[in-house]
Amino acid sequence: MKRTIKDIDVAGKRVLLRVDFNVPIDENGIITDDTRIKVELPTIKYLIMHNAKVIICSHLGRPDGDVNPKYSLLPVAKYLVKELVGKVYFVSDCVGEEAEKKVEELKDGDVLLLENLRFHKEEEENDSVFAQKLANLADIYVNDAFGTAHRKHASTYGVAKLLPNAVGFLMGREINAIRSLIDNPEQPLVAILGGAKVGDKIGLINHLMGKCKTLLIGGGMAFTFLKANGVSVGKSLVDDEKLDIAKEILERAKANGVNIVLPCDYMCAEEFSPNAKAIKIDGDIPADLQGMDIGKKTIKLFKKEIKKAKSLIWNGPLGVFEFKNFARGTAVIAKAVIKFKGKAIVGGGDSVAAIKKAGDIKRIYHVSSGGGASLKLMAGESLPGVDIITEINVEG
Ligand code: AMP
Repeated sequence: MKRTIKDIDVAGKRVLLRVDFNVPIDENGIITDDTRIKVELPTIKYLIMHNAKVIICSHLGRPDGDVNPKYSLLPVAKYLVKELVGKVYFVSDCVGEEAEKKVEELKDGDVLLLENLRFHKEEEENDSVFAQKLANLADIYVNDAFGTAHRKHASTYGVAKLLPNAVGFLMGREINAIRSLIDNPEQPLVAILGGAKVGDKIGLINHLMGKCKTLLIGGGMAFTFLKANGVSVGKSLVDDEKLDIAKEILERAKANGVNIVLPCDYMCAEEFSPNAKAIKIDGDIPADLQGMDIGKKTIKLFKKEIKKAKSLIWNGPLGVFEFKNFARGTAVIAKAVIKFKGKAIVGGGDSVAAIKKAGDIKRIYHVSSGGGASLKLMAGESLPGVDIITEINVEG
């Protein structure tokens, strides 16, 4: 188990807290979705209440090593001033004299937000000098940025090697929830996979093959599997380079008694456009059409399998859900996942957005805050930002 902030004495200590405040901010400096800040507040408040000097760092967008006001974290500092009772300060550079001076002035329970880490190219390069500069600001390092845990950056990896470290509440919850469901699922475990890129999900499919009896595959990625199975898919999205892997996966599934359920009917379009008319197709897709969403029969089939499950994983939309004529498959499956009574994990930005639209997400065992990170963790792959944090033994 990873050491958490509850396992260390933070009173009077300078705590460098890495968070994921990569929130959308409009041209007027208004945060248009504060989910990522809200989920972080319990860790920040805990540190304040336990008299730490809380030094928060994050990335925002992709400024690629340049100082760019568009990607400033100042609006987040203003947000924190309103949300937190104590003092909140902001410095315009995450390292250097101004930050060092401000840290020295902090009193127990104060909060200091550092400017965007990615204004320094050394952050993404995991530069050791830059990591040391960050480490110099603090006595303890806490990583709560699950969304970037799969990145080996100075603030997620390099600095963790230089200080006593721990995970925050969000990171702890993500690791425990995902690992417990994947490592020890109540059977039958059913996985619903969608999205466009087959390549991103091969690792997950391979890992799940040994864990679940049923894999429901929809979205754009289904067409690579359908083509590998000899079905005509017309102009649908196909990753030809992955056809052999798809074929091999289908054969292995058959040999191991894993039921891979592919769509059998579709909502198709003549062209990939938001206003495209939806055309129902059952079976082979004509050459001039492309599959954009799963059809009614497939939805019914998927729902039937979901009902049989005791635990569930969902990652990736089942159609081009951004276009209203092709959003139904994803929306109906999202509702079925909300209704599901067993443990369900929903990961990936699109599925999370769909599930939020579908109903009360509090009913779901775990909605992951990380896209790439949750995909990798579910696939049994290691995350540098997690691996580097100290393990502790728990008795009993
Ligand atoms: P990914 O990043 O791989 O999870 O893919 C997410 C994207 O897959 C979304 O933007 C969807 O619009 C897209 N998608 C889902 N189904 C299809 C489809 N049938 N054809 C093309 N794109 C799709």
